[in-house]
Amino acid sequence: MHQATLTDEALAIDGGEPVRDTLLPYGRQSIDEDDIQSVVNVLRSDWLTTGPKVGEFEEAFAAYVGAKYAISFTSGTAALHGAAFAAGLGPGDEALTSPMTFAATANCVLYQGATPVFADISADTLNLDPQKATALITQRTRAILPVDYAGHPAQIDAFLEIADRHELIVIEDACHALGAQYRQRRTGSFAHMTVFSFHPVKHLTTGEGGMVTTNRPDLAETLRRFRNHGISSDARQRQSQGQWHYEMVLLGFNYRLTDLACALGLSQLKKLEANLSRRHEIAARYASEFRDLSPITLPVTREDVTHAWHLYPIQLNLEKLSATRAEVFRALRAENIGVNVHYIPVHLHPYYRDRFGHRAGEFPMAENAYDRLISLPMFHGMSDRDVEDVVKAVRKVLAHFSNELPCPIR
Ligand SMILES: *Cc1c(COP(=O)(O)O)cnc(C)c1O
Repeated sequence: MHQATLTDEALAIDGGEPVRDTLLPYGRQSIDEDDIQSVVNVLRSDWLTTGPKVGEFEEAFAAYVGAKYAISFTSGTAALHGAAFAAGLGPGDEALTSPMTFAATANCVLYQGATPVFADISADTLNLDPQKATALITQRTRAILPVDYAGHPAQIDAFLEIADRHELIVIEDACHALGAQYRQRRTGSFAHMTVFSFHPVKHLTTGEGGMVTTNRPDLAETLRRFRNHGISSDARQRQSQGQWHYEMVLLGFNYRLTDLACALGLSQLKKLEANLSRRHEIAARYASEFRDLSPITLPVTREDVTHAWHLYPIQLNLEKLSATRAEVFRALRAENIGVNVHYIPVHLHPYYRDRFGHRAGEFPMAENAYDRLISLPMFHGMSDRDVEDVVKAVRKVLAHFSNELPCPIR
């Protein structure tokens, strides 16, 4: 079925020996003894939730990103919901966002009864294109949600300028970009609100968890209330003040992150810089190993940013391959490389198609990228051997499917 080449080794998918014996996931957490001990200490303490670890984690996190306030939530999705609420989104309002993201970015707009409006992405970074977004601003537009795809910061200065002109709120979905920098400032320090996730595949984990950072005290207060039923002071404050009185001032939710989770977050935060360096090392290794492979395009880093490398998404140059993305994907999986695809453009999900009449062809950049994307394994706990396996498998599979002979193999 497949054209054999001079350098061909039998692919695992065709019955050959796989590059690895066990599946290497595309992302996973690292938990050490310090992490475990810090959670155990909380289990032995008085406060499992709404205790001191919550404020400690929030303060340390705010200090790290360089924001005035950090408000924790039970997930990145809950944090996005809080941000959409604090932005004042409601029925009749529109919010602009990228189709090249996880559905939660757009869903949070729907939670508020507002309408997500998608704009196409830039070809290099796959981030929301500020010009395309600007073209879709209407009287109803109230917010813009750029996404730092794969860990490459969006053009926040451009979005803040647009927001200034049109009185919009910028909610940066930085779930991929903890530790990234844009023009020498850390992601999380300059959008009106920035949202992070602590899911195990992200840079720092609390099991499930999320955070919103902001410099605006009014937004910080609304976010704190929203995550606690809309109540204006939390239980610990009341206890320490010996008061029973509290007031519910808005309709909120219970989105409180526990002390167990916050203790884990605090412990993980200490290792973040080292983990980011490791991700940079892995990205540099991939870039140098794959630079001569014409069947793929590597992710681009613009000059004014420091990437956070949550993902390492390559794009297949399908005209140089005798296989589809699905075939290359299956072949890599058979080699036990846990590749993934980020993302199916949000507007193409059945829910969005049915509810808003979205269809294929609306956002050519996002859809064209989607047809060619494959995320290679990228996480700070990868060993050199793991990285080597990915390199070997990618070279093996691409050599097999390449139209251009001979494909260089080392
Ligand atoms: C992970 C992620 C989310 C959601 O975070 P959860 O903590 O899983 O709820 C939202 N947006 C993007 C871009 C993400 O990667």
